[in-house]
Amino acid sequence: MNVLVINCGSSSLKYQFINSDTEEVMAKGLCERIGIENSQITYQPKDGDKDITLVDMPDHTKAVEMVIKKLTDPEIGVVSSLDEIDAVGHRIVHGGEKFATSVIIDDEVMKAIEECNDLAPLHNPANLIGINSCKALMPGVPMVAVFDTAFHQTMPPKAFLYGVPYDYYEKFKVRRYGFHGTSHDFVSAEAAKFLGKDRKDLKIIVCHLGNGASISAVKNGQSVDTSMGLTPLEGLIMGTRSGDLDPAIVTFLAQKLNVPTDEVINILNKKSGVLGLSKVSSDFRDIEKAYNEGNELAKIALETYSYRVAKYIGSYVAAMNGVDVIAYTAGVGENTAIVRAMIAEYLKYLGTNIDPEKNKIRGEIVELSDPGSKVVTMIVPTNEELAICRETVRLVK
Ligand code: ADP
Repeated sequence: MNVLVINCGSSSLKYQFINSDTEEVMAKGLCERIGIENSQITYQPKDGDKDITLVDMPDHTKAVEMVIKKLTDPEIGVVSSLDEIDAVGHRIVHGGEKFATSVIIDDEVMKAIEECNDLAPLHNPANLIGINSCKALMPGVPMVAVFDTAFHQTMPPKAFLYGVPYDYYEKFKVRRYGFHGTSHDFVSAEAAKFLGKDRKDLKIIVCHLGNGASISAVKNGQSVDTSMGLTPLEGLIMGTRSGDLDPAIVTFLAQKLNVPTDEVINILNKKSGVLGLSKVSSDFRDIEKAYNEGNELAKIALETYSYRVAKYIGSYVAAMNGVDVIAYTAGVGENTAIVRAMIAEYLKYLGTNIDPEKNKIRGEIVELSDPGSKVVTMIVPTNEELAICRETVRLVK
């Protein structure tokens, strides 16, 4: 089966075209600046060169049209016609409490996704536009919605409730939802498979450390807690997001900076995290370089970041009354050895050491701790597109 995986943002559209039988990515790419001047599509076929085309894409329908055009291009395409696209899998950011699993998209599902718009005002409307564009251009092709929040719907109330009046949960659904669920699910499953164990028998802590970062406690195959909350702002320190802080800081800063609270939230989302702390960059490659050159703020940013992750790991050990596996994933988790090493210093009490030689490995599944360690520490590369492809096939077949 050939599956087109679509991840639609407000002005971008990432795509992968996957043969689900071989799980090979036949082509992938990105449409950027949709609805803005100088929009372009990047297209990378499996065995060919990267193709970048500047093309006017006033809306997402035009972007999807361009993706199909590239996939079926007689020169650089990977299929001969639209008929060879068997299904489309859509990444949807927020499923609220309505979706605890992936679903085939129909009118009722569209309506339910729309009802979650106010929980993710930047993301869900864009995701819906992506679905509508695909429906318009590929009528009759089955489509599946895979939600970032779904995997975490197994959290018990003690984990998802905030200490605010219960009415706000009942009336407004104010609660922890968590995100990156597709990745936490995929990585915990891959970790168990690699270790030759059943995920149902394990307590796994997944550290998804990318631009956005979240951590989850996966007990017996189910998410029992995670660090992101009502929105992706809560939890770990991220590339540009602050993560946890005293909520009173919002009004305090609004007064000091003489800006509305919305603007403070914007600062906490876009100008904070390791970018704000280090004054260097949100990219860990830049921060690591600055740290190696003796930059004091880069050191503080790395230490503060790692300390926060270590504290969360400690709290999830308590939440699960133990831990068997700690798995690092995503851009930083898979690549940044210094962060893993700094975190490991706090976790020696768990009986998990990181082998410094193995810690140099990047982006492949590997056990970092010594064989026979009580707690296994590992790198498990995430692959959200493949996970979405697998979900799509599972539901469509
Ligand atoms: P996103 O949340 O956008 O999917 P990623 O998982 O791709 O993010 O992670 C992006 C971050 O991962 C980058 O900002 C960078 O800090 C880090 N990163 C990616 N590749 C490397 C690398 N080879 N070495 C060090 N850090 C890396």
